[in-house]
Amino acid sequence: MATGFSASVDAMFERAAGLMDLGPGLQEKIRVCNATYTVRFGVRLRGAIHTFTGYRSVHSEHMEPVKGGIRYALSVNQDEVEALASLMTYKCALVEVPYGGSKGGLCIDPRAWDEHELELITRRFAYELIKRDMINPAQNVPAPDMGTGEREMAWISDQYQRMNTTDINGRACVTGKPLNAGGIAGRVEATGRGVQYALREFFRTSEDVAEAGLSGTLDGKRVIVQGLGNVGFHAAHFLQTEDGCRITAIIERDGAIHSPGGLDVDAVHLHIQENGGVKGFPGATFEPDGAALLEAECDILIPAALEGVIHAGNAANIKAPLIIEAANGPVTSDADAILRDKGTIVIPDMYANAGGVTVSYFEWVKNLSHIRFGRMQRRAEEARHQLLVDELERLSRARDVPWELSSDFKSQYLRGAGELELVRSGLDDTMRAAFQSIREVWRTRDDVSDLRTAAFVVAIGRIASSYRAKGL
Ligand code: NAD
Repeated sequence: MATGFSASVDAMFERAAGLMDLGPGLQEKIRVCNATYTVRFGVRLRGAIHTFTGYRSVHSEHMEPVKGGIRYALSVNQDEVEALASLMTYKCALVEVPYGGSKGGLCIDPRAWDEHELELITRRFAYELIKRDMINPAQNVPAPDMGTGEREMAWISDQYQRMNTTDINGRACVTGKPLNAGGIAGRVEATGRGVQYALREFFRTSEDVAEAGLSGTLDGKRVIVQGLGNVGFHAAHFLQTEDGCRITAIIERDGAIHSPGGLDVDAVHLHIQENGGVKGFPGATFEPDGAALLEAECDILIPAALEGVIHAGNAANIKAPLIIEAANGPVTSDADAILRDKGTIVIPDMYANAGGVTVSYFEWVKNLSHIRFGRMQRRAEEARHQLLVDELERLSRARDVPWELSSDFKSQYLRGAGELELVRSGLDDTMRAAFQSIREVWRTRDDVSDLRTAAFVVAIGRIASSYRAKGL
C-alpha cells in the first residue's frame, strides 16, 4: 500500500516502467526527484515579522527549462511538491512540450491576507527563488496552480524584471500572466478547456465510450465536478454550454449541492464568489459532507480540486463509469487498482490537465519571440479568403447562377485566426495527438489494460529516449 502522494505517483510509475525494458539504472534515474529547495523567509506584516516556508522542486532536467506551477495552500509540503513536480515531467513528455518537470509551493492560506500583503509575500518568495535561478526564462518557469493566478504571476514577472533589467526575455520567466503583462489569450481557461477537448477526443471513438459502459456523445451526460476553481469552473462551463452536459452536482470546500435537472455553472460560480461557498444556492439540495457526492450516480466524475480524494476507503463506492482527473493526483494508486478491477475508466491527470502547460508553452514562445500570434498572418489570410469569395460571387453573377454564399459562412470564412483561435487550435491538436499516442499503447499492448499505464509508458519512453540521446 502506497502512503503519501509521491509514493502513490511512484507506484503508478513503477507499474508502467516494469513493463518496459529501460536498461539498468535508467528507471530509477527517471523516477527520482533531482532536487528540492526549501526556503524560509520573513515578511514584516501587521506590526510583526511573519515567517513563511516555501519550496521549489526540480524533478527532471532532461529538458530545460523545467516547468511547473506554484501552489499556495496551508497543506503544501515537500512530499506534495515533489509528487507534483514528477507529474510535470511525465505530463510535459506526454504532450510534447520541451520542458523538464518542476513545482513550487508556499505554505500559506491566501484568503488570510489582503492583496497588498500577498503581493509583499509573493515578491519576497519570488526574490528568494530568482536569486538562485529557480525562476529564470532559460532554467525554471513557474505558472499558476491552486491558490495562485494571473495576479501572482504578474508580481513574479515584475520582480524578475526588476532584478534582471537587461534580460530581454525577462517576461518568459513565468507563464499564466495577464494579457497586459505578456500573457496569452486563452491561458486562464486552458486547463479546463483541455479537459473538455480530452473528453471530446475520448467520445470520438464509440468503442472506447462503450468500454466505459456509456454510449452516444457528451450531450446530456450527467457530470459531477469537485472544485469550482480555475480548472473545475472552466471545464464545467464549457461542457455545459458547448457540449450539452448536465452538471448534476458541484462539490466545494463547504459541502456539495446537487440537482438532478442540472445546475447553472455560471450562477453557482457567482454564488461562490459572493458567499464563499455553495451553501444556500437556490433550487439545489445542499449536502454538508461534500465528499459523499463523489459516490453519487453520474456518467462522468471530474475531480478538479485536490489530490488523494478517491482513495482505498471510497473507491469501491464510486459509481461514475468514467473519471477524468482534472486535478493532479485525485486518485491514489490503491484506489486506482480498485477502479481498474471494477472496470472504471480513468483518464489520467498527466493527460487530462495538460492543457495548462500546453498553453503556457505557447505563452513562453510568444514571450521569446516578442510578437503576438497571428499578428503577421491574420490580415493576409483574410485578404486571400476575400479573393476567393469575390471570385465565386463574380462567377455566380457572370453565369447568372442563382446562388449566394450565406452571410454566416462568409463571416466565419473571412475572419482570419487571431491569437485566441490559434491557441485553441494548438491546444486541441495537442490533446488529440496525445490521446492517440496513449490510445495506441492501450489498444495494442495486451499487458496494458488502462489509460494511466499507457500514458506512463508513452511518457517514460520519451524521457528515456531523451536521456539515451544526450547521455547523462
Ligand atoms: P483553484 O485554487 O483555482 O481552485 C481549486 C478549487 O477547489 C477552489 O474552488 C476551492 O475552493 C476548491 N476546493 C479546495 N478544497 C476543496 C475540498 N476539500 N473539496 C472541494 N473543493 C475544494 O485551483 P486550480 O488551479 O483550479 O487547481 C485545481 C487542481 O488542478 C489542482 O490539483 C492543480 O494542481 C490542478 N491543475 C491546475 C492547473 C492550472 O492551470 N491552474 C493546471 C494543471 C493542473
